[in-house]
Amino acid sequence: MQERGINSTFKKIIYESSEMVFLADDTFPYSIFYGNESFESQIGESLEERNLVGLGLDINAYIFKEELILTLGNKDYSFRLELPQESGSNYFLFYKGKEQKTHGLPGRKEIHQFFKSGLDLIAIGQHDFLTYTNSAVKPILGYDPSELLNTSLCPFIHEQDLELVRDLWRTKGNKDQLGFFKARFKGKDESYRYLECSVQFTEEHFYLIGRDKTDQFESEQKVKHQSQIQTKANRLSKSGTWYLDSIGVHWDESAMAILPKDKSELSSIEFGLKSKLQEIPEGKESFQESLPNSTLELRGELINSISGNKQWIGVVIDTSERKELEDSVQLVKNLLKESPDALMVVHPDGKVFLCNDEARRLLGVESGQRFQHLIELNVIFEETDQWKDWINITGFELGSKRFSTLLINGNGKQLTLEIASKTFHDNGNDLVLLSFKNITEKVTLEKTLEANSDFLMNLTEQVPGGLYQLLLDENGKMSFSFLSKGISSVLGLSAQDIENFEDISVAISRVHPMDLPNVIMSSVASAKKQEPWQCQFRVKNEAEPTGYRWVLGAARPQTLENGDMVWYGYLTDISQQKEFETKLDEARKTAEKASQIKSDFLSMISHELRTPLNAISGSVYSLLQENPNEIQKNTLNTINFAVDNLIIMINDLLDFQKIEAGKLTIEKAPFNLKGLVEQVMKGLSFHARDSKNDMQLHLGDGLDLTVKGDKTRISQILNNLITNALKFTHDGHVDVSLQLKESSQNKVKVYFEVKDTGIGIAPENREKIFQDFDQVKPTFSTKYGGTGLGLSITRRLLSLMGGSIQLDSEVGKGSKFYFELEFDLATEKINHHSEFNGYSKDFSKLHLLMAEDNDVNALVLGKIIKKWGYTFERVGDGAQAVEAVKSNTYDCILMDIQMPVMDGFEATSEIKKISNTPVIALTAAAKLEIMEKINEIGFDGFVAKPIDAAELLKKIKEVIKEGQSS
Ligand code: ADP
Repeated sequence: MQERGINSTFKKIIYESSEMVFLADDTFPYSIFYGNESFESQIGESLEERNLVGLGLDINAYIFKEELILTLGNKDYSFRLELPQESGSNYFLFYKGKEQKTHGLPGRKEIHQFFKSGLDLIAIGQHDFLTYTNSAVKPILGYDPSELLNTSLCPFIHEQDLELVRDLWRTKGNKDQLGFFKARFKGKDESYRYLECSVQFTEEHFYLIGRDKTDQFESEQKVKHQSQIQTKANRLSKSGTWYLDSIGVHWDESAMAILPKDKSELSSIEFGLKSKLQEIPEGKESFQESLPNSTLELRGELINSISGNKQWIGVVIDTSERKELEDSVQLVKNLLKESPDALMVVHPDGKVFLCNDEARRLLGVESGQRFQHLIELNVIFEETDQWKDWINITGFELGSKRFSTLLINGNGKQLTLEIASKTFHDNGNDLVLLSFKNITEKVTLEKTLEANSDFLMNLTEQVPGGLYQLLLDENGKMSFSFLSKGISSVLGLSAQDIENFEDISVAISRVHPMDLPNVIMSSVASAKKQEPWQCQFRVKNEAEPTGYRWVLGAARPQTLENGDMVWYGYLTDISQQKEFETKLDEARKTAEKASQIKSDFLSMISHELRTPLNAISGSVYSLLQENPNEIQKNTLNTINFAVDNLIIMINDLLDFQKIEAGKLTIEKAPFNLKGLVEQVMKGLSFHARDSKNDMQLHLGDGLDLTVKGDKTRISQILNNLITNALKFTHDGHVDVSLQLKESSQNKVKVYFEVKDTGIGIAPENREKIFQDFDQVKPTFSTKYGGTGLGLSITRRLLSLMGGSIQLDSEVGKGSKFYFELEFDLATEKINHHSEFNGYSKDFSKLHLLMAEDNDVNALVLGKIIKKWGYTFERVGDGAQAVEAVKSNTYDCILMDIQMPVMDGFEATSEIKKISNTPVIALTAAAKLEIMEKINEIGFDGFVAKPIDAAELLKKIKEVIKEGQSS
């Protein structure tokens, strides 16, 4: 002790002190070289190493401190410290050592231990920096305490909680205050832990204790969430909960939402519920009941409450929606079941969930038969593998699929089915809806349609010529919307040309320029009038020698709904037909020319024949007047008969030729029917006498009529028939009958009949005799004469007048020709050509003018006139005749028609302007031809050449008389 500079006084003080004192070297390891008794008894004796290092004291940490705590075992001892002061002292003095009294509080070590091993997080820091964390930080946040030293607290706190923590630090930091907060701390694994913390703030430090409440927090969150779900679910399911306690029934919010708002109603429900619960017998622990007149349903259950008592709790449910839902589910089920479509619902694995009646019927599954899996249908499909594959694919894939297949159903019927599938979700399950459609008919129909279409296509291709469809759109553009193959051959185009051949202008450019206007005009007319189009035209065709081919185009237009117009038409090659037509036309022209030549020839020949006949007839007449002897007379009569026959023949021929040529027109002029018939009969009376027949007219009542018709033609018909009757009857009867058949205000129908008792006509000849040039026997050499044209002409004339000739006959007994004609009744007066000329004539003395250029004719006619005892003047042409009339007066003028200088027509019309003298036309030209003109010019009469003297005389007297009487 001495050598360390410790004096004895000091030593004594130390020694006697009741408090612990010890001295240690000031050099490592700071050995304790002296301890007083108190020290030795409490500490020193138990020390194994008597130095400061052994005591765990780092003397450097105490250099500026006057006190140090020495922890030994479970005890803390505090000492005051005196560092060496003087150069002589080389020790540390520890004095006033005493055991620190903790009064039951843990000691420093204990605290240390507590700090170290506590479950709660303990942290100490300055400002927001951590200076200490206990090891609980590892299990809670995953860090080693050393990792957190001198780090800021902020980055560990969830950003949503950070503001709250900062607030706390701002308000309470450095102020000796206590604070609490809850926050999420980020762990090393980035997950958050929920800590509940208390912080003690001091001027320099903060002391934080945090408890990991994550589990509790999460379960609270869960509960909260569940309660939210519950409320929501209650709302959605329209239900709520209730419980019953001593106070009464308690409803939750959701229950209140569906219960009646009216308080009295609510209390009556509560009352009802309570009474119900009372009625529930012992042992029954639940009930279910619908409230009367309401969609509400109550359910309850008896439970053990927390207090251990039994308690009723339950739910109230508004079942309206559920009912609706149930109804709609039922409806859907029914719909599915009753659907007229065959439907099936299966699980994706092919297990059948539902199969409606229609599907069973279609697939031939009998109603009692179990049908559980699609695979059971394998047997009915023709392509079993296809079906298997299909159900595999469709079953598992989402979306819809379609598939058609052939099957023979359970009833042995072969069908084509279209099967469609669609996968859908129901209640978390995947289901597949299958629909089966019997498309057998559709397929058959499609096949038929296809066949029809093929047929039509074939037809289109095979018909000669080409078919097309032409479209005219609203902008006036015309284009071909369809062209059959045949078009190419008609238009002489290649198949490729045809493909690009849409534009109408290409077609038009191929039409012959001469035919183009016609094509366009007819098309426009067709479009305008919506009438079918038809046109013949030439189109370019290199194969033809002319470079063109004749084509017939025809089309029918149709207006489409959109206003466009289409023509459905065809083009066909008519070159051959055209060629034929041209030939035909040439032949026709040749025939017409021939006919004209024939007609001209007949005209000419008749004229030429008439002139000599005229001469013969006139001469015979003269000779007969000069008292011939019997033999001469017979010869002359024979000549006369032959001449007459020739005249008739010529007239018939000319008429026939005229009718043939279609040049004959039927006149409609007023005449007296009775008068006409009488006149005809009169004209033939001499003939009747000659043939020794008794000829009678039988006129029915009401026939004294003025009708409109062709008097000349009717006379001709009657003449023909009566002449024939007289010709083929000897010593018999010829009866002519007329009957009024029908009569109205302006029309009459008259029956004509000519009946004889002659030779009759055999049945086989009855049709023949009406044919041209046909006679029962060729008659030129027989006694009857004739041409065989009379009846043919008669029939034709009648048909022109609307009548038809009929014949009844019996060989050897006689014949009956009859017909009916309809006439308009005439209202106007009969036009008489000649008017009263002022003469009252003595027919024994007449003065006539003869206009005749032919000297022979003039000579013959002159002789005849002289025979009558009349006088005459002769002029050689029409002009002279007019002059003669101007300077002289005549009783009648006999006017030849064909004359030089001025013909008979012109002369007569001139004469009629200056004189009333009757004019009789004399002509060898065909009667029919000039008849119209004769009437027109105003001749008073007409006598055909060769002149029949008796007829002429009669006519002369007639015209003069008519003139007088009118
Ligand atoms: P034709 O000029 O020869 O008389 P028709 O055409 O008038 O020519 O008559 C044709 C034929 O019909 C006659 O040739 C005659 O054989 C027969 N025929 C016409 N009418 C009678 C009649 N009344 N009785 C007997 N035969 C008749």
